[in-house]
Amino acid sequence: MAQNLIQTIKPGVVTGADYERLVEACKQGGFALPAVNVISSETASAAMEAAARAGSPIIIQVSHGGARFYAGQGLKDDLQAKIKGAVALAQHVHLLAKDYGIPVVLHTDHASKELLPWIEGLMEYNEQAFAQTGSPLFTSHMLDLSEETLEDNIAISSRMLERMSKIGMSLEIELGVTGGEEDGVDNSHVDTSRLYTQPSEVLKAYEALSPLGHFTVAAAFGNVHGVYSPGNVVLKPSILKDSQDMIQCTYRGERNPLNFVFHGGSGSEPAKIAEAITYGVFKMNIDTDLQFAFSEVVGEYVKKNSRAFQYQVDPFEKDSKGKEIVYKNKYDPRKWLREGQKGFMDRLDQAFTDLGSKGCYAAPAADM
Ligand SMILES: [Zn+2]
Repeated sequence: MAQNLIQTIKPGVVTGADYERLVEACKQGGFALPAVNVISSETASAAMEAAARAGSPIIIQVSHGGARFYAGQGLKDDLQAKIKGAVALAQHVHLLAKDYGIPVVLHTDHASKELLPWIEGLMEYNEQAFAQTGSPLFTSHMLDLSEETLEDNIAISSRMLERMSKIGMSLEIELGVTGGEEDGVDNSHVDTSRLYTQPSEVLKAYEALSPLGHFTVAAAFGNVHGVYSPGNVVLKPSILKDSQDMIQCTYRGERNPLNFVFHGGSGSEPAKIAEAITYGVFKMNIDTDLQFAFSEVVGEYVKKNSRAFQYQVDPFEKDSKGKEIVYKNKYDPRKWLREGQKGFMDRLDQAFTDLGSKGCYAAPAADM
């Protein structure tokens, strides 16, 4: 059933009703998709290449800092750089996703209240794209108003969802606080009780938002951004189950009515990931582990070819035939960026396996 549902979705960027079907297919099929933070064309292309190899749809997302980097750190207008950097990523993915042969969800990561102008700027591009093509540029955006009161969080999210629904977009909200530190937001000292969302908060958000449009929920269940030595915070996926049960009982509806997002997936135990998926998690964010996977192999490459990063022509050594050693084919950035992409894709391949989505869309490609 789930297999058939997912096969009805065409390769390329997925929005609107197709996205809702994709989320449903994940929940019915008992798997989730990795949501990969990218910062550049080579990480975006590597994400699509990894998805094609795994035979799975993928979620590609960008943070405000990643969007800034995508546009270029030299641009002076910070807000415009964040808006245009995200748009540049979206256009890159729109142009290439079909060629990779897999469905791609395009999303933006955490936007706190101060970053509302970023999302509003992106909404203008989405509305323009919708007017021209019938589809928005992005599939969904996230508003992270977890630092505001629940009432403010729900009120602002409702206004945004109303605007997004008109053009077939979905909204991700955050309830409770994801611990740790990411992209300059440091929640590593937040009171531990706030790291666990209350099911009653989830019910309130459900009641307000479900009449307005499609939305997903990043609920806190002890998950943290970044990777740390095991600490005091315990992952409790049962919080997700309690929230689903509360809504299901209140409205006598179907099983797992909520669409949950797992933030801070890096470094999580596979058993806890599998448990969270049974409670309606369809998306798991993975950033820190992919950053390390990219950098680790580049570090190894630089160590192995250290002279190529100091000299264009070796001033001391000659090859076995007495000819000079030229390092151009070693320091060419394509060489070490490709190594970084390979490390990134290998770690991502493990994520497809952990989340159970490998081969769910098409048979994994042997090689590309
Ligand atoms: Zn997050």
